[in-house]
Amino acid sequence: MDLYEYQARELFARHGVPVLDGGVASTPEEARKVAEQLGGRVVVKAQVKTGGRGKAGGVKLADTVADAQARATDILGMDIKGHTVHKVMLAVTADIADEYYFSFLLDRANRTFLAMSSVQGGMEIEQVAEESPEKVAKVAIDANVGVDRAKADEIVAATGFPAEVADQTAELIVKLWAAFVAEDATLVEVNPLAKTPDGRVLALDAKVTLDENAAFRHPEQAELVDSSAVDPLEQRAKEKHLNYVKLDGEVGIIGNGAGLVMSTLDVVAYAGEEFGGKKPANFLDIGGGASAEVMANGLEIILSDPAVQSVFVNVFGGITACDAVANGIVQALGVLAERGEDVSKPLVVRLDGNNADEGRRILTEANHPLVEQVDTMDGAARRAAELAAQGA
Ligand code: GDP
Ligand code: MN
Repeated sequence: MDLYEYQARELFARHGVPVLDGGVASTPEEARKVAEQLGGRVVVKAQVKTGGRGKAGGVKLADTVADAQARATDILGMDIKGHTVHKVMLAVTADIADEYYFSFLLDRANRTFLAMSSVQGGMEIEQVAEESPEKVAKVAIDANVGVDRAKADEIVAATGFPAEVADQTAELIVKLWAAFVAEDATLVEVNPLAKTPDGRVLALDAKVTLDENAAFRHPEQAELVDSSAVDPLEQRAKEKHLNYVKLDGEVGIIGNGAGLVMSTLDVVAYAGEEFGGKKPANFLDIGGGASAEVMANGLEIILSDPAVQSVFVNVFGGITACDAVANGIVQALGVLAERGEDVSKPLVVRLDGNNADEGRRILTEANHPLVEQVDTMDGAARRAAELAAQGA
């Protein structure tokens, strides 16, 4: 989960990383109040979960309270790379003598953590990284050792931070690592890490990504979730512990096993080309033990997506055999009817693997008017796409 800058800034502050005072506002009037509290001279910053706000005109300096309100009026409602600005952060401004770059991130490819840093930070950091990669220092961090003062000194030296800021920067790096670990982050990024004319080093921007897999350890982080930005179907699926991702097609997909579901998406997208570009409506992996309840919950989510015109249930029986899945499907349709759900979209079911014959027999016997069986994955994908085209 990515945080907004104002949330990341507060997180930094809690861990002792130097930031300037600030507050957040949703209206120009609120912005005016925050600016008043901060003393008038402020920076007004669009709060959107994307970079490049500065270049897009989403970061503006204001000298007075009235000016701050005017800049907030300009920025609120702006569109930055497809993100509408609903909030602005106002913060005390700093004068900037130098802009550095610093981040800790999870380096998946090398199975380690990484410190990336440069004395040429600021809005052109991507260009610096591309054109002069030698100006970006990369220091691997051993997760078992972490970042102590000695490691921080090593990072400072590798980056070439000037001597007059070396101490402060090393201290800041140690605190940032402590924050990274304590919050279960996969990214903390500061750009610019600024040096002021009077020689202080401050985090003037804050970007944090938290590891959602560790959310159970952080009940306090729940309030950081921006429920307005979460898809309502994904939200409901999450509450039911389903592995669901909303996509923008018309063919609902349920499968057992992430790999099978991924390939089902491909096969459906390919088959759908023949029918005017029908595409998968979602990813849904119901996992190994496809009980009737899990199947019912999965079907309920998929069928309540108004974009869905047909559903493809693709199951390869393994530990959970096909007969159990077939019973699950039959019972799930019963459960949904009992719950008063509208079950009116056709289901194409493909069963293969362990006990496929028995599974198919169960479905044939149940003879549900909406369920159709196709024995191959390609054939079933094609049929589901065809039904989606007929339904639309
Ligand atoms: P980003 O473009 O989305 O990364 O947004 P930033 O928060 O990094 O802001 C963009 C640029 O605005 C920074 O690189 C700074 O040059 C400038 N900036 C941000 N905060 C301040 C500030 O307090 N004072 C001054 N003078 N410039 C600032
Ligand atoms: Mn930035």
